[in-house]
Amino acid sequence: MSKATHLECSVCGTRFEAGQVANLCHCGGPLLARYDLDKIRHRWLRREVPNGPASMWRYAPVLPPADEAIVSLGEGWTPLIRTKRLGARVGADALWVKDEGMNPTASFKARGLSCAISMCVELGIKKVAIPSAGNAASALAAYAAAAGLESYIFMPRDVPQANYLECKAYGANVTLVDGLISDCGKIVAERGPKEGWFDISTLKEPYRIEGKKTMGYEVAEQMGWELPDAIFYPTGGGVGLIGMWKAFAEMEKLGWIGGKRPKMISVQAEGCAPIVKAFEENEPRSKFFENAHTVAAGLRVPKALGDFLVLQGVRESGGAAVAVSDDEMLDAAIEMASDEGIYAAPEGAACVAALRKLLASGLLKSGDKIVLYNTGSGLKYPEAYSTRFPRSASGEQDKLGGLITPR
Ligand SMILES: *Cc1c(COP(=O)(O)O)cnc(C)c1O
Repeated sequence: MSKATHLECSVCGTRFEAGQVANLCHCGGPLLARYDLDKIRHRWLRREVPNGPASMWRYAPVLPPADEAIVSLGEGWTPLIRTKRLGARVGADALWVKDEGMNPTASFKARGLSCAISMCVELGIKKVAIPSAGNAASALAAYAAAAGLESYIFMPRDVPQANYLECKAYGANVTLVDGLISDCGKIVAERGPKEGWFDISTLKEPYRIEGKKTMGYEVAEQMGWELPDAIFYPTGGGVGLIGMWKAFAEMEKLGWIGGKRPKMISVQAEGCAPIVKAFEENEPRSKFFENAHTVAAGLRVPKALGDFLVLQGVRESGGAAVAVSDDEMLDAAIEMASDEGIYAAPEGAACVAALRKLLASGLLKSGDKIVLYNTGSGLKYPEAYSTRFPRSASGEQDKLGGLITPR
């Protein structure tokens, strides 16, 4: 039995029974899982949380699947690293990086798909399909393999090689599409019903967000139940940000934190910045971003289903939406690596570039407590890093290093 009491439409408020296969509401709105938090708060105390496992399942009482259904590869409970040199470099005295690259399949996507696949097991779903810009596909393929489910994956043709190889190795059925994630989504929506696939697209099913929200529970616990002043989150579909915002509201109802919220900063790439554009134009929703392009594959989402929820969270928090260029991301990625030993995904590095802009604009102060989410590992992005550190195929000496031939 699902631990959620019901599912609620985020647009029209219609309620649906928990413990059933569910995609979107009739009105097209994403469904969110709700719990009886009044009951839970008396049975599960904040001080008991550290007794739980060293994974996101330490928050199992506010996650939907029953314990027997859980499919886990050890996702979550990632390190929150206080920076030693990077903060001084950008002018932030209290700066942390939440390193999601440490997750199974090397991105935070593991959290969402561990939860969603667990619910598929609970509900008896056998075949799952996903459109993905890369990392969601890797995570789906891994968890489907772990659960013994069939997975069908649709990715842009130019998806990072690492994602393609992982999916194949995990035994997924992979189709490359000459288009963007939005085109992949259309194919899944058209073919899914005929093929008997369950569509596990972001927010088209209600449980990936539940896994992702644990990033919000964790940052609170790791900071002694005191939220930071600002959280930077690289935004594609935006579900990580929406999930954390949901987690903060739940934790307040549980009596674990007060009403103070961090400024939520949504970070996008200049080549694909629909949320930033809507934020600047004061629109409640974004418009399809034409010709989306960026090295940060996870940010190449030209139109997000949950855009209105991202914009609501950002605005209610007094935060901002900021775009940075691919060059700024890669510069920042190399700074994170050389200053801190963190080999970040370009998406995560984008947060450093955005932080610089908001310190300069005055929205943030040097003394603010700031957490950046590095959503994935740089190991997934040899193509992006190679543009900075080229090496010829013949192994000739390059201008940065050198080649020595042993005698
Ligand atoms: C998917 C992804 C993102 C975007 O996440 P959303 O929650 O969909 O906005 C950011 N970074 C990486 C590395 C990703 O894989």
